[in-house]
Amino acid sequence: MSQEFEPVIGLEVHAQLLTRTKAFCSCSTSFGARPNTNVCPVCLGLPGALPVLDAEAVRMAVRIALALGCTVHERSVFARKNYFYPDLPKGYQISQFEEPLSTDGWLDITLADGSTKRAGIARVHMEEDAGKNVHGMGGDSIVDLNRAGTPLVEIVGAPDLRSAGEASEYLRRLREVLMTLGVNDGNLEEGSFRCDANVSIRPRGSTTFGTRCEVKNVNSFRFVEKAIDYEIARQAAIVSSGGRIVQETRRWDEASGKTFSLRSKEEAHDYRYFPEPDLPPLVVDAAFVEAQRASLEELPVARRARWGATLGLTAVAAGVLSVHPRIAAFFEEAAALHGDAVKVANFVQTEVLRDVATAGLSATFPVTAAQVAELLALVDGGTISGKQAKDVYAALRGTAKSARDVVAALGVAQMSDSGELESVCKAVVEANAKQVAGYRSGKTGLMGFFVGQVMKETKGSANPQLVNEILARLLAG
Ligand code: ADP
Ligand code: MG
Ligand code: ZN
Repeated sequence: MSQEFEPVIGLEVHAQLLTRTKAFCSCSTSFGARPNTNVCPVCLGLPGALPVLDAEAVRMAVRIALALGCTVHERSVFARKNYFYPDLPKGYQISQFEEPLSTDGWLDITLADGSTKRAGIARVHMEEDAGKNVHGMGGDSIVDLNRAGTPLVEIVGAPDLRSAGEASEYLRRLREVLMTLGVNDGNLEEGSFRCDANVSIRPRGSTTFGTRCEVKNVNSFRFVEKAIDYEIARQAAIVSSGGRIVQETRRWDEASGKTFSLRSKEEAHDYRYFPEPDLPPLVVDAAFVEAQRASLEELPVARRARWGATLGLTAVAAGVLSVHPRIAAFFEEAAALHGDAVKVANFVQTEVLRDVATAGLSATFPVTAAQVAELLALVDGGTISGKQAKDVYAALRGTAKSARDVVAALGVAQMSDSGELESVCKAVVEANAKQVAGYRSGKTGLMGFFVGQVMKETKGSANPQLVNEILARLLAG
């Protein structure tokens, strides 16, 4: 992009709340059920059906607002956002508009140079999801309303981001917060965490904002960066050649790597918002809010800082181990059992993470934290070498065995019995008189030869540190 322009980006994120039931009825929110089986008169929008707000959704939304430093308003109001679309049976979406649940928060992100930037959050409000149009191969389409009425929060970010990289960092950090709270599964591909990117450019040094375009359909971290970079370049080219940006909604198309106009501002929907007459204002009293604040999970930023300060982890290690709440919990459990967090962090990063599969909020580990702690304790005690630990780990994977049993079964234990090693070393020294004389006349490089002989005799199982000590003593004469 031309250096003349500075990009300005603000993200709107829709996150599905992991409640058991929908926002305004008791239908299940479970994913993957047969189309149109999790529906009832309320979420189908049948005449006369009345919505009842789900308390769990409120609790989750309040926790999100608090984790993002927002002010939670004691009174907020649901509003009807009216538009026609086949996946919206009521003809309106229940959302919040003029009086949202919460406003004015922030999210700290880490910039490429390692510094921290505080990005503003304009508001976090509650709303419901629409259904889904499913287009079949033969040109037929069905409307699946299982998702209609699933509770969402919309998190509206301030226009504080200045590059595609900052935008994807913001999204990663936001997703991590929601997952740490256990209220969203962070799945961009399945659409439970969705992002629209608002992008504008302005001359560098300018303090006013340019006209923005809103880019929809950016459903992976990679797409977010590509879509924003494309949009910045597109706008810069227009402005550079004397054109003007028109405010519009655009769609990211992954196949062509471009954004396409969906509708201009003139064609924008007039949603005719008005307060939802079937729901009373939402009232969350101060005591409830304070109870939620007091019981908030430790957030990723605080967790990483604590790991650095009290466990001695590097920023990189702390970053890697805190990407998923289950990985963080696994690391902490193993570190507590073993005692040396840095050793555990190294082993988990280099060996265990390779085999960890995450799916939403769950993760499957090939071993338990207790197995890792025991394995590393065997290295500490000299029973096995660091290299042997990798073989033992490979054999431990997917079993409930103890590390000690695997060491015995594989016969990989290091020979650390000094009496036993002493006799092997003595035999090697006695069998190689010529090399002994050489060593004693100053060819100390022959030490490698002796160590090699001992390793050969012990099939590589001798504790190398002990062998060196014993040989040095014997060869000193
Ligand atoms: P609307 O209600 O019309 O959608 P908002 O003021 O709520 O407008 O902004 C929606 C999103 O657009 C927010 O995430 C905000 O940060 C972002 N935004 C607003 N103005 C700009 C701009 N000039 N450039 C980039 N993003 C912007
Ligand atoms: Mg908006
Ligand atoms: Zn329902």
